Amino acid sequence: METCLFGTKTEVSKEVMGAEKGENKGKAAKRQKKPAEKKKAGNMAVVLGLVLLFGLGLIFIVYGLGLEHVRIGSAGMNTPKQEEPAKPADHLVTESSVSAEKPQEEKKPEEEKPEEKKPEPAASDVTGQVKNAGAGAQTVDPVAGNYAELYPDMKTVSPQERQSFGNTVFLTFDDGPGAGTEQVLDTLKAHGIKATFFLVGNCISDTSAPLIRRMVDEGHTIGVHTTCHQYKTIYASVEAYLDDFHTTYQKIYDYTGAYPTIFRFPGGSKNSYNKGTYAAIRDEMTARGFTYYDWNVSTGDATKGYTAESIYANAMNGLKYKDTGKNIIILAHDINQVSASQVDAIVTAYENEGFSFAALSPIVKPVTF
Ligand SMILES: [Zn+2]
Repeated sequence: METCLFGTKTEVSKEVMGAEKGENKGKAAKRQKKPAEKKKAGNMAVVLGLVLLFGLGLIFIVYGLGLEHVRIGSAGMNTPKQEEPAKPADHLVTESSVSAEKPQEEKKPEEEKPEEKKPEPAASDVTGQVKNAGAGAQTVDPVAGNYAELYPDMKTVSPQERQSFGNTVFLTFDDGPGAGTEQVLDTLKAHGIKATFFLVGNCISDTSAPLIRRMVDEGHTIGVHTTCHQYKTIYASVEAYLDDFHTTYQKIYDYTGAYPTIFRFPGGSKNSYNKGTYAAIRDEMTARGFTYYDWNVSTGDATKGYTAESIYANAMNGLKYKDTGKNIIILAHDINQVSASQVDAIVTAYENEGFSFAALSPIVKPVTF
């Protein structure tokens, strides 16, 4: 307490000294005069009642000083009320400082307001999209656990029933658009088949836009994978995931004119980075109507030591689902040119076994971990 008291006094004296030396000589003078004015006002208040009887001219003077006296008197009487919102240091300020502090107290909320608003544009900037700046701004005041406040328009309608398609392969390509995307698209086109691309928002740009337009024009499905693909970032919380998701969600709309309805968790729906947040993120995303897909066949093309042969061999593991009626969802990465080079052989092999290929859509029963 004493430290605060001395600290406060020291600050005040420094302010006065600084003011005298600096630009605010007038203000400093006013501060020094006010204690004297109060004393004068106190005396005058007693005298003024008598003075009122002596003439209108004196009444004008009394009126002016009287108001000042009333203000000071009110401040004293309402001290408890005024002290309630005041900071502890304010209790220790001498009476002479009260009037000087008033304007400071009035200014504080004005200064804080713009500071409180500052995060809003910052939050909407996170989305990187002008179109949804309004929705981004709503992330400023999220109620804990009430994620509906975050990007309320980011939702879709999920089908009531989902289906399994026997002997059908759903090729899925993550992390693009990238180095192998064009070759993948060419191969799919040559075979006349459809596939699914789970895009990374940071890879979506004017440069990759032609590839994204091809995906749409040629009948493939686009889903959200992530924006930054940083596990620790996106799985830090539901809010963090929604922020990351929204950026890519909006970007896909900007480049295709349609919002995605399906997504894939980076690392799969269950991984070592999202153990604490997986359930909450999954529940929030499914509540919004989005459908996520893991895989039951991995090409292993993101694993160290992969080769063209290993990618092909791993992809063939889906043959075991022949005539089981199960959906076959193969994971590959179109940023990997080696993977892209194997798509033709993989597709040909499955076609030779009588399999069909299709793009995912929400009616396809998901494969989940
Ligand atoms: Zn990925």
